[in-house]
Amino acid sequence: MGNIAFINANVIPMDVRKRYTGVLALDGKIACLGNDEQIKEAAGKAGVEPINLNGATVLPGLHDCHAHLSLTGFDAQGINMYDAKDIPEILRRLKEADETWDPDRWLFGQRIDEGLLAEKRPPTMEELDVFNRPVFISDRGGHYVLVNRLAFDALGIDEEMEGVRKDEDGKLNGRLQDVANKTARNRFPWTREQTYEAMKWTAEEAIKKGITTIHAQEGFTKDDPAVELLLEHKDDFPVDLVIYWCYMPEPDDPMCKELGILGGDILLDGSIGSRTAAFFNPYCDGEGCGYLNYPDEKVYEFVESGIVRDLAMSFHVIGEKGVWQALNIYEKVMEQHPEKKDTARLRLEHFGWASEEDIQRAARLGVRISTQPPFTYLRGGPESVYRSRLGEDREKAGYPLRRYLDAGLCVGGGSDSDVTPMDSILGIHAAVNPPYPENAVTPYEAVRMYTSEGARCGWEDDHKGKLLPGMQADMVVLDADPLTVNPQTIKDIKVLGTVRKGDLVYNNGIE
Ligand SMILES: [Zn+2]
Repeated sequence: MGNIAFINANVIPMDVRKRYTGVLALDGKIACLGNDEQIKEAAGKAGVEPINLNGATVLPGLHDCHAHLSLTGFDAQGINMYDAKDIPEILRRLKEADETWDPDRWLFGQRIDEGLLAEKRPPTMEELDVFNRPVFISDRGGHYVLVNRLAFDALGIDEEMEGVRKDEDGKLNGRLQDVANKTARNRFPWTREQTYEAMKWTAEEAIKKGITTIHAQEGFTKDDPAVELLLEHKDDFPVDLVIYWCYMPEPDDPMCKELGILGGDILLDGSIGSRTAAFFNPYCDGEGCGYLNYPDEKVYEFVESGIVRDLAMSFHVIGEKGVWQALNIYEKVMEQHPEKKDTARLRLEHFGWASEEDIQRAARLGVRISTQPPFTYLRGGPESVYRSRLGEDREKAGYPLRRYLDAGLCVGGGSDSDVTPMDSILGIHAAVNPPYPENAVTPYEAVRMYTSEGARCGWEDDHKGKLLPGMQADMVVLDADPLTVNPQTIKDIKVLGTVRKGDLVYNNGIE
């Protein structure tokens, strides 16, 4: 816990529209804000040498309300497939690694996006069988993996397991979804140490982006050690973590009590890319309407068990029907437990396509939303996968942040890293500049999503998200003011420094 003082700065505490030129933090907390003279005097008394920021902007430390630490760290060690143009290029990249990587290592590719490949399909098991070692390629959204025969056998997956995809003549095509996807990811031979290192690496990258709090979405299966590792070592992390266990454990599991949260990125439905997000109307370019992964009763029981234990609740919902299921259940549980009306902590992840009725219903129930503006910024618009999957009207109605805020919803911003880059400045830019202007929010509202509302989204707003005396001294120093620059250039703003609990933990040019 440190002391720090900034003067000659543009300090935006995100408390109504106030601004100051100076701020002083003592013992990890904001001590006071004021003009340069006031801060110099207060800092002098405390024995702190003020730093002249030459007009740089200071905001509360940024939040990322939904990120996958281990996935992001693992991906960083894999072969990037995201910008591959076609299947031959994917095979070429794998071949390159095959010739240089340690022979015991699996060929691990990451972030493939079939919608961006010329063939509009990923490589098959047969195509990946040219390599004499296991090949494992993870998709960009985390919804499927591709494997060759060697990997499939080494993972010990049964051919009849749910999600093992086959072609018309019953032959495995290498694509593993649903249960098989989760199982495959869980059985990938990462060690506990590698998992820990991967998460730590991601957190260190976050600090460089001015992020001081991450709502970490980890532990998708019972055996995944990520949540246990985070609980054990969270004080060693350079950022604050709000940990969501993305698995349905027994609610009396001691780890749930320690987390104070039940649920997180538990997939009630899937994604647009894999046509598994649940809608009432069919996809425009393929079969079906997507589907719900759990029967209502199971989700109800899980939510009720959390509410009676005063645990916060959350689920992944993207399609209209996924949102509808979650809200039906939240509503029903709250009707059964009116005594929890003022204390229940209900939240949903993504909340991509919600009917107007459900937007209002979520607001009425006080459900807090953790969403990702870069999804539509990077993946939406007329030429996008969203458009071909959903058709024009539905595509344009995706992630309508404007309507969410107008309905009075609390909306926190995040990246879903590694789905989009862990970069809250990009997130602010995306919220201001979505593909359709009717979904846009103002720069001030966008910054709130990653600061004060981000903190509210994790029920931490009593001590984070604003720069007010007594609050945790988490700050980001920027080379420009996101509230006044040309809104189309917000993404170009550079992080000059990051302060966590009064300590300058990242310095990128502060003298
Ligand atoms: Zn999710």
